[in-house]
Amino acid sequence: MNIIVCIKQVPDTTKVKIDPETNTLVREGVKSIINPFDMYALEEAIRTKEKVGGNISVLTMGPPQAAEALREAIAMGVDDVYLLSDRAFAGADTLATSYTLSKGIEKIEQFDLIICGKQTIDGDTGQVGPEVAQKLGIPVVTYVSKIENIKNGQIKLKRMVEDGYEVIEAETPLLITVVKEINEPRMPSLRGTMKAKKAEIPTWNANDIGAESERAGLSGSPTQVVRIFAPEISKKCEILEGEPTEIAEKLIKKLKKGKVI
Ligand code: FAD
Repeated sequence: MNIIVCIKQVPDTTKVKIDPETNTLVREGVKSIINPFDMYALEEAIRTKEKVGGNISVLTMGPPQAAEALREAIAMGVDDVYLLSDRAFAGADTLATSYTLSKGIEKIEQFDLIICGKQTIDGDTGQVGPEVAQKLGIPVVTYVSKIENIKNGQIKLKRMVEDGYEVIEAETPLLITVVKEINEPRMPSLRGTMKAKKAEIPTWNANDIGAESERAGLSGSPTQVVRIFAPEISKKCEILEGEPTEIAEKLIKKLKKGKVI
């Protein structure tokens, strides 16, 4: 089974600071890690390979330093890694990111299963997995909490929904996004870490993957961040006194006047 895992390098914090001048994330001084949900995606790929055999390729789109995330994946035990990095990919929204990733996947060519995290801890949209599947013209199953069985191109999955689970049967090729309940990611082995240190990281630019410049990066992004800000935290508090109906009326008046703190 040929498995592709998409991983993203993210800042090691959910409390990202924003530069009010440029409306971009302040990354200085913040350590980078593999997006936590992508660690579960990597682990599931390795467990699947251990059960049914095959090859695992890992793909990331990012700046040159994202190669570190790929080294970590090698240390965990994956076979091949690819860094998609080009100035033309910068400023991508989720549509342009998905386009670029799908072009990278098409270049890898052989795949039965693509595994993504359910979302990232920085962008947080959860859009990239389904968008990649759409671009490749393959089905997608999101929020997968267990791969029950894979045999002869058939896959049985358990997915989390709001009030329970769904069991789904699908055919490969397929893209899944995974939740943290699916497994416990392993620590890299010493041998893996040594291998990762020495590994050459293949880097593909827009030309290498045949990406059209108007569909990648900022020029391929129909959405633009106009303003980004952290909500102001106010500790002002007003206690409404009276009977419940009186309090409700007072509250409604305030809501109508837009005077609720
Ligand atoms: P999600 O959809 O939450 O991620 C789901 C899964 O997809 C991940 O777990 C992972 O498996 C996979 N995945 C996601 N991203 C990658 C990746 N890069 N490589 C490999 N796998 C991946 N960012 C900028 O740097 N500059 C900008 O100008 C910019 N503008 C933006 C404008 C808008 C309106 C939006 C919504 C986002 C913008 N971003 C920008 C952020 C950028 O779009 C996201 O970083 C990127 O598209 C991934 O989206 P996400 O983090 O929400 O991933």
